[in-house]
Amino acid sequence: MKRWRVPTTRRRIQWVMLGLTVAIGVQFTLWVTPHLAGRWPTVSRPPGVEAFLPIDGMLATRHLLSTGVVDEIHPAGLAIFLGICLMSAVVAKSFCSHVCPVGLVSELLGRLGIRAVGRTLTPPRWLDIPLRGLKYLLLGFFAWAVWYAMSPQEVVSFLDSPYARIVDAKMWRFFAPPSRLTVGVLGVLVVGSVLVRDLWCRYLCPYGALVGLLGRIAPLKVTRDPELCTDCHECTRVCPARLPVHGMTRVASVECTSCQDCVVACPVAGCLAVRPPLAVNRSRWLRPAVASAVAIGLYVAVVGGFRLAGHWHTSVSEAEYHRRLAEIDSPLYTHVGGQTMTEGE
Ligand code: SF4
Ligand code: SF4
Ligand code: SF4
Repeated sequence: MKRWRVPTTRRRIQWVMLGLTVAIGVQFTLWVTPHLAGRWPTVSRPPGVEAFLPIDGMLATRHLLSTGVVDEIHPAGLAIFLGICLMSAVVAKSFCSHVCPVGLVSELLGRLGIRAVGRTLTPPRWLDIPLRGLKYLLLGFFAWAVWYAMSPQEVVSFLDSPYARIVDAKMWRFFAPPSRLTVGVLGVLVVGSVLVRDLWCRYLCPYGALVGLLGRIAPLKVTRDPELCTDCHECTRVCPARLPVHGMTRVASVECTSCQDCVVACPVAGCLAVRPPLAVNRSRWLRPAVASAVAIGLYVAVVGGFRLAGHWHTSVSEAEYHRRLAEIDSPLYTHVGGQTMTEGE
């Protein structure tokens, strides 16, 4: 079997993002652990940790769109969420193949499975299609909760609630130390991802569903030039999204992540490339590195724009964190059924 190559620039970006994620996780641990023990940390809280609060990001986006006001409790989370949406809406679903560290881990686990047993399990089409619908059900639930079930006042109330002010620490405590349930769920997902390629991403991730839908409107998509195509099927063979690329002119599937594995596998220069609309010919196409640079450039532009505008660091002071984290198990920080407990209750 021929080697499955990955665009070099994309892979480098993914490793940098994974390294950043690990660094943020370590710094956050060094910050939150002393606070939880009633001591003062020697490092500062990394704002990038808010990347792991996508629901908060959705709520803050709704708040921004309806009021024009940036949520200053988690401004970095809002910036990152909007950066993710923009890059995916311009270079189709590119967040998954370039930035998301879970995507890289999932891909590596799938490769491990191929190396270990020669192949990964592929559910038959009659099962694959309904399973792929699961992530849209999850996304639909979150979208309903954020955009419909909550009134604008409830959104404001949640974003400013005691729970939301320390939600990053609550999330951290879910994993450290992990409960038996956490270990069990993660174990099933890891083993499942070795056996079934992209198990989490393909079937369960609501974030992937969101950026996939945004990718539908993307002007930059993988496009095949039928006049150059030799019908060798190399593109289809390597596609992690299992798309029949050799038969498509413009890859408009919600599953395509603009990973460009098909582009580097294609033996005919310019036949398969990321192109703008109405450019199904050799004259207008982006080399893999350029397409990756456009995607990541948009993400950096949004995040950098927020930083330059002063919307990056939380307005929650270190003293407030210290006070709240010391009482993190108090009922004050429980959010149940959309009813947020407010201070004094
Ligand atoms: S599907 Fe979800 S987990 Fe997978 S790469 Fe995309 S956003 Fe990340
Ligand atoms: S069609 Fe190409 S760019 Fe899209 S997922 Fe498949 S290999 Fe990646
Ligand atoms: S790899 Fe290139 S030449 Fe081969 S089928 Fe795909 S688009 Fe055509």
